[in-house]
Amino acid sequence: KSIAGESGFKFYAEEMNQAVREQMQIESSILRGLRAGEFFACYQPLFSQDGKKLVGMEALARWQHPTLGLVGPDKFIPVAEANGAIVQLGDRMLELALQNCKQWREQGYPHLTVAVNVSTRQLKDRQFAERVARQLQMVGLPPDALCCELTESLLMEHSNENTEQIFRLKELGVKLAIDDFGTGYSSLTYLKHLPVDRIKIDRSFVNELDSNPDDRAIVVAIIAMARSLHLKVTAEGVETPSQHQLLQELGCDTMQGYYFGKPMQREAFELFLLNGAQL
Ligand code: C2E
Ligand code: CA
Ligand code: CA
Ligand code: CA
Repeated sequence: KSIAGESGFKFYAEEMNQAVREQMQIESSILRGLRAGEFFACYQPLFSQDGKKLVGMEALARWQHPTLGLVGPDKFIPVAEANGAIVQLGDRMLELALQNCKQWREQGYPHLTVAVNVSTRQLKDRQFAERVARQLQMVGLPPDALCCELTESLLMEHSNENTEQIFRLKELGVKLAIDDFGTGYSSLTYLKHLPVDRIKIDRSFVNELDSNPDDRAIVVAIIAMARSLHLKVTAEGVETPSQHQLLQELGCDTMQGYYFGKPMQREAFELFLLNGAQL
């Protein structure tokens, strides 16, 4: 072996070690972090079709870790899903999202809705829908103030346990969305079997909407299908005015993306509201 190859490998191994260490550190401290209140929600605005009216926000988890700093969900959600901590984390996110939504409704934005991401692991809990109902009641929000976003990849484990809780949520009056639509294996099967209200077109289809005719054709087809199934459509990852314009023309009813606002910490979102988010 050449020296360069060996040192290359050594460098790689050190990087690996570093990544593995960080991963282990994350795994071992999620529950501690939850107890210490280190997890919080950022909120990304959701806008109406014309881009003028704020209709709600999606709660996105963040972790202010004592030594690693601010950790994003891509680092800890898969770990939390694997070790089960996602159940507590999900409860915490729901609690925060509902409290803040209620508070903002009372502060003059009475129609705001909030979306949370729900992992299949949470749906395996036979009390999940009941807990959601209780939380809504405690906070004093109607069920349709909440949208639960379900990811296709997770719904893939097509178990009755999961779908039972999904139907219970629906009965409660909670809104249901399929997240990252189009990236999973059997998106259409879910649409057929689950009582969803909304699909969120994955941002990978929105990215090159202007320049890529295939993406455009896919988005057109998704929206047409949604319309005939009486489903609402949110586009994620809208970053430019021209993407917005196209999506508006195509009939997508809710917009989300950096063009309208990045995920913001609570205080920043409040400023965003005050600075003329129109309702
Ligand atoms: P997601 O549910 O698809 O959330 C949207 C992600 O896209 C967010 O990343 C958001 O910051 C990002 N995004 C939004 N608009 C744009 C845009 O215009 N351009 C680009 N490039 N990105 C945009 P984030 O916050 O890093 O979240 C990543 C994923 O982590 C989420 O994807 C979701 O699957 C998961 N996640 C976040 N919070 C939670 C949670 O509380 N529970 C669960 N189970 N999963 C969560
Ligand atoms: Ca989502
Ligand atoms: Ca998504
Ligand atoms: Ca995603």
